[in-house]
Amino acid sequence: MRLELIPEKIKSMDVYTPVEEKFEIHLDANESFLPLPDSIKEELISEIGAIKLNRYPDATANICCRAFAEFYGLRPETVVAGNGSDELISVIMNAFLNKGDSFATIAPDFSMYAFYGSLCEGRHVELQKDEDFKILVDNVIETCNNENIRLLIFSNPCNPTSVGLDADEIRYIIKSVGSIVVLDEAYMDFWDQSLLNEAEQHDNLIILRTCSKAFGMAGIRLGFAVSTRETARLLMTAKSPYNVDSISQSCGKVILSHKAEMQAAINEIIASTAAFRCEMKELTKRVRGLELIDGCTNFLTLRAREAQEIFSYLKTQGISIRYTSGLLRITCGNEEENRRLLAALNRYFAVG
Ligand SMILES: *Cc1c(COP(=O)(O)O)cnc(C)c1O
Repeated sequence: MRLELIPEKIKSMDVYTPVEEKFEIHLDANESFLPLPDSIKEELISEIGAIKLNRYPDATANICCRAFAEFYGLRPETVVAGNGSDELISVIMNAFLNKGDSFATIAPDFSMYAFYGSLCEGRHVELQKDEDFKILVDNVIETCNNENIRLLIFSNPCNPTSVGLDADEIRYIIKSVGSIVVLDEAYMDFWDQSLLNEAEQHDNLIILRTCSKAFGMAGIRLGFAVSTRETARLLMTAKSPYNVDSISQSCGKVILSHKAEMQAAINEIIASTAAFRCEMKELTKRVRGLELIDGCTNFLTLRAREAQEIFSYLKTQGISIRYTSGLLRITCGNEEENRRLLAALNRYFAVG
């Protein structure tokens, strides 16, 4: 591109590079470790086989949104589907932020918020969590109201810290600010403090959910925004017409109509993470400079004096985790993967 034709806002940006090297064990992206049950997989294949791929997909992803609404006991008119919740973050920011409008994040948090916000030329106000990664509720409210924040976005429970904030406190934030609140509940299937069932009661709230984590469907790129009907209509207006392809819509419909199986999978992930957490806790008791953060997600977050070194060592052992915001983030894998991760950490600290 001719230099004079490149806008400032993308000059300093880099291509998003997820972990691409091949590792034996991938605990870096918070995906589910569970394969789909065979019966559901067969149903998926047969549904996909019946799709007319020469036709455009349903622009409203109606059947898929209905399945999502039914799964969580919501009204379908309050649900909008996106090409991953990532796309919905982009749609929301483009729809609700004018150039120069202020948006707030609460660090450390999901990096994509700042990315999409800067693409639409918002002014980024970055608040900080406290030393235990708790959101300072009064500080957030005060800043939102004093700095004329148009949009506040954060994850609960938080990626990468794994820390959750109780529903009461979230409610208090929503009611106290003049901002749009985008509440990213990507990990809320693993915890019980969701505001999904009251999304319709707050006219400044948009909740994001995804099929990428608890449902083990990161590959189909399917996420949902839940809000009042009026807000949902605005999002429908602002999104690109065929944002969710036919195959993803069909997959979404199938998995979301198997509530019992999905709930069983989620319970299994929760139980595995709890066991993994216990063992990690034991390890941290024997090692100085390693602290496990209390959390409620399908991953563990560690504060480590030698975070960078540990991260690099694990790579040499064929294990990929995430090193972000100075923290180590380790997705709960299957039993074997967790055991090997712990064994590698024990070797690193030579305490095993
Ligand atoms: C993984 C993740 C997402 C992205 O979800 P997709 O639906 O896969 O785009 C959104 N928010 C947070 C906090 C996440 O960790």
